[in-house]
Amino acid sequence: MSAYHFECTVCGARYEAADTKYVCPRHGDAGILDTRLISRAGIAKPGADSPRSIWRYLALLPIEPANIEPLLAKPTPFTSVGWTPLYRASRLGSRLGLSNLYIKDDGRNPSASFKDRASAFVVAKAIEHGEKIITTASSGNAGAALACISAAVGLPAVIFVPAAAPQAKVAQLLMFGATVLLVKGTYDDAFDLCLAASKEFGWYCRNTAYNPFTVEGKKTVSFEIAEQLGWRAPHRVFVGVGDGNIISGVWKGFQDLLTLGWIDRMPRLYGVQAAGSAACYNAWREGQATGRPAPLKPVEARTIADSISVGLPRDGLRAVRAVRETGGAFITVGDDDILKAMKTLAQQAAVFAEPAGSVGFAGLQKMAHQVGRDETVVVIVTGSGLKDVPAAMQAAGSARVIEPKLSAVEAIAGQFEN
Ligand SMILES: *Cc1c(COP(=O)(O)O)cnc(C)c1O
Ligand SMILES: [Zn+2]
Repeated sequence: MSAYHFECTVCGARYEAADTKYVCPRHGDAGILDTRLISRAGIAKPGADSPRSIWRYLALLPIEPANIEPLLAKPTPFTSVGWTPLYRASRLGSRLGLSNLYIKDDGRNPSASFKDRASAFVVAKAIEHGEKIITTASSGNAGAALACISAAVGLPAVIFVPAAAPQAKVAQLLMFGATVLLVKGTYDDAFDLCLAASKEFGWYCRNTAYNPFTVEGKKTVSFEIAEQLGWRAPHRVFVGVGDGNIISGVWKGFQDLLTLGWIDRMPRLYGVQAAGSAACYNAWREGQATGRPAPLKPVEARTIADSISVGLPRDGLRAVRAVRETGGAFITVGDDDILKAMKTLAQQAAVFAEPAGSVGFAGLQKMAHQVGRDETVVVIVTGSGLKDVPAAMQAAGSARVIEPKLSAVEAIAGQFEN
């Protein structure tokens, strides 16, 4: 399926795919475009021989399959994005009084975060358009994902990250051979600089909530969740929110499935933000109080969860809509809750998440008492714990140091009795 048009998320204006590359010309950089497939007639559900990756759903993505056929012909990290495990977390669920709790582990992507979904699809679009150089600004994961997928297909990448980005993410960028620019400033500074460079030098820009196709890659998570549940929608989905692009993608994916009739209802979406970076939560709550959509106001972002530390969410409008229109909620959690959630997730469900990756679960913990025991609940883990080892050590505490003597082991052996 290749035929699509764009619709501005601000004013609703419609554009042909050939008429604009990134945003609504009337709204400039704020005019994020939604992509609408023109026809869905005759699309069949994936079968037994469909790839076990996001490319399983090629028929639901706005791209001409023939244009990326060579990329799909052989296994590479490009072809192994997505189709991540959906674990049934029984032990964790019973602690919360939930019989049907699932964890979607997107730390299991090639560069170890959810961002691979977006980067893979944007790289596919770059190849389709014959772009020569690709660029993005990132707090870390989007850049690592783009560097990884670009390396897989042999496309040069220029990545702008704030100089304070976690070391593991910068290491990934360098290892994958991207040109790495550490910007002395915030993510917002990196974003603006990347945009200016893209315009000046003609590089293809993947920036989140600027390039319209990131959401298209991200929506595949909902296709997978529904299919892994036997083509059923869960009752509730919890996910961490920074810029709001992931939750917008989750919404889009379930909307597509509803339109196709492959699921029969929309799940409630829960956006979880760090209390120190809660611009979407604030706007959502104000909207609940007044009954009218409230504007997003910038905050001074401070949280241990670097991947969701955002002053003014770039896709906040859509994120708030996703929550409001599905009857979900925004939830805030403190940094202590996040560290505790990391540990609980790892110990009770064996999933090791980075701080932002465990935020969805921290949000569920906070409101589990309002969820019916038999409801199907999905928590999306968005990034691996190996992305931020210092934070993990903060959550885990330190290990015992002992003399190399059996008597030193004896002291702990007692704790396993009964
Ligand atoms: C980017 C990211 C998020 C948040 O996604 P947004 O689209 O910015 O809301 C959450 N967790 C991780 C690990 C991320 O990298
Ligand atoms: Zn517009």
